[in-house]
Amino acid sequence: MSNRSIGLGDDIYDYLLKVSLRESPVLAALRQRTAEHPAAAMQIAPEQGQFMALLVKLIGARRCLEVGVFTGYSSLAVAAALPADGRVVACDVSEEYTAVAREFWERAGVADRIDLRLAPANDTLDELLADGQAGTFDFAFIDADKSHYQAYYERSLELLRTGGLIAVDNTLWSGSLIEPPADDADAQALATFNARLLEDPRVDLSLLPLGDGLTLARKRA
Ligand code: CA
Repeated sequence: MSNRSIGLGDDIYDYLLKVSLRESPVLAALRQRTAEHPAAAMQIAPEQGQFMALLVKLIGARRCLEVGVFTGYSSLAVAAALPADGRVVACDVSEEYTAVAREFWERAGVADRIDLRLAPANDTLDELLADGQAGTFDFAFIDADKSHYQAYYERSLELLRTGGLIAVDNTLWSGSLIEPPADDADAQALATFNARLLEDPRVDLSLLPLGDGLTLARKRA
């Protein structure tokens, strides 16, 4: 896992940030706060947050899903890129992590755009489906426990409109998927997920070497 784009030397990575990163003061403060956390590597890279904000603007997203909030960096980056009536349904199970997220969503003035659901994400996604919300979301970001990626993906795809976009995090997993260790359940799940996605005719596909690997899957008609 990595919270900077992998495969780049320090010099070129620093240059990339220097000439392109436009991180808001609240996002910068959240990154600083999260850096002290033992699980800090779970935070996405700042250039990835900025890229996802660009994506949601490009597709004119108003309704977004997030599976895996952690301390809220990605949801904040996405929510800030939405129009004022935009919404992010944010799924997580950790009261502790999302307490930090809520604090920074407030500070950034986007708390009213984020609907935090503290429950297993599959339950929340199933509730949205049962509520008739299939086909109504524009964008989904999946970045939670790797063993459930396939299930999160299937539900998110159903909730997305045609032309909607799913972004899936950690699909390069620091390079350990090249030969995933047999005893590493996360690596095995990610390798299987990647292989299945390649053959999935329901989506257009691209895997970017951004952050720890970011797969984009656009829902086809
Ligand atoms: Ca991640």
